[in-house]
Amino acid sequence: MMVQQLKNKRIAVIGAGLGGLCLAQGLKKNGIPFTIFEKDTAINTRSQGYRIRVNEPGRKALEECLPGNLYRLFLDTCAASYSGMKVLTTTLESSRNALVESWSDGVKEMPDLKPNRLTLREILLQGIQDHICFGKELTAWKESENGEVELAFSDGSTYTADLVIAADGVHSRIGKEYCKDHKINTGNITIYGRTFCSPEAQNAIAQELQEGTSVIIGDRFSLITDFMSFDFSRKDTSWNQLSPISDYFYWAFIGNPQAFGMAKSDFYSHSTEEILQAINKVTYQWHPKLKALFQYADQPSLSVTPIRSSLPKEPWTSGNITALGDAVHTMSPAGGVGANTAFTDAALLTRYIISKSSIPEAVEEYEKQMIMYSNHAIEISLKGGEILHGITEDHGNKESL
Ligand SMILES: Cc1cc2nc3c(=O)[nH]c(=O)nc-3n(C[C@H](O)[C@H](O)[C@H](O)COP(=O)(O)OP(=O)(O)OC[C@H]3O[C@@H](n4cnc5c(N)ncnc54)[C@H](O)[C@@H]3O)c2cc1C
Repeated sequence: MMVQQLKNKRIAVIGAGLGGLCLAQGLKKNGIPFTIFEKDTAINTRSQGYRIRVNEPGRKALEECLPGNLYRLFLDTCAASYSGMKVLTTTLESSRNALVESWSDGVKEMPDLKPNRLTLREILLQGIQDHICFGKELTAWKESENGEVELAFSDGSTYTADLVIAADGVHSRIGKEYCKDHKINTGNITIYGRTFCSPEAQNAIAQELQEGTSVIIGDRFSLITDFMSFDFSRKDTSWNQLSPISDYFYWAFIGNPQAFGMAKSDFYSHSTEEILQAINKVTYQWHPKLKALFQYADQPSLSVTPIRSSLPKEPWTSGNITALGDAVHTMSPAGGVGANTAFTDAALLTRYIISKSSIPEAVEEYEKQMIMYSNHAIEISLKGGEILHGITEDHGNKESL
């Protein structure tokens, strides 16, 4: 559509997470107006993880959506990248796992990038703050015959849109009810946190863990660690608008909750102290220079999350409502592609909104492609989980969400 025609359209994006913000940047770059409705009252009201691995398709999508200065800031603020992944035993011996090694296969222009999650979100927010309405939780929507969509929010306000894009994450009702996304609880969990790189911690933690990514495969679970070392020589005034960062070790366990003595009903009731105790119990016999990761851990950073996944889906009837990211295709973090797929969605949808002759045509073409590549990414992520916790997922017996 001509940008001039799009200027009269009311585009509503639900959710200011990684995917919704990336889409908003793409729309802004092309001069298309939009409004984002975010349920949280500010961007940093809760922790959502620490490091994000951005692969080549994810990076290219960010490059497409971001203006040049913000894309450069994104590159400059990423932690140092290394090719490949080390597979280690719990006693820090080198091990081989052909499946894990295959994750880093393929010819790439550059190794995967490692931004700090909050930093990336702050970069994605730049220049579009005025388009975001915080404290707006979508509670209902209604399509009229003329194609308009009436949105209702928990504070009692409403908004009428010509196109609604749900980017509201794993609990999205539009994803579930409109796009027929069927999510399951895989029965596995991730426990993640970070360990700041103090001189004592750096001394105590094995040298092998101080460069790149390492995977340690245990019994019914695995640990992934990544050293996040930032290049402060690149720091200039454009960093002033970002929250300060310092080097840290990111680590995440993925596996069976029973291995950690946790039952499904109480994931969210564990204090960070209890989470740390569970980790200490499981890693009791590990190499001291590996255990040091938890000895020096930043306790408030610890978190437990159940691993959910969408199931591959069929197309639904397209309209003036669509979705992107976790809202329509949640993936196990074992694949490390959930956010990357959300960025790909954002770039593709922006491209189609500009190039197709109408909004319904853009949405239909976007959904056709998105369903294909996201079904593939969902499968890969579930397989990644099988490598990491060694239990074959049985979709039929998993609890639906
Ligand atoms: C431990 C862990 C590690 C991960 N690592 C990686 C990785 O390395 N690489 C990768 O590609 N992916 C990774 N992922 C997956 C990635 O985090 C998600 O796929 C990604 O955040 C999805 O982005 P999104 O914008 O779709 O959703 P979100 O980032 O969840 O954003 C959704 C937004 O919508 C808002 N919202 C929710 N409901 C409403 C409502 N009703 N109304 C208004 N707003 C609402 C939320 O507050 C939030 O701001 C990881 C996930 C986990 C748990």
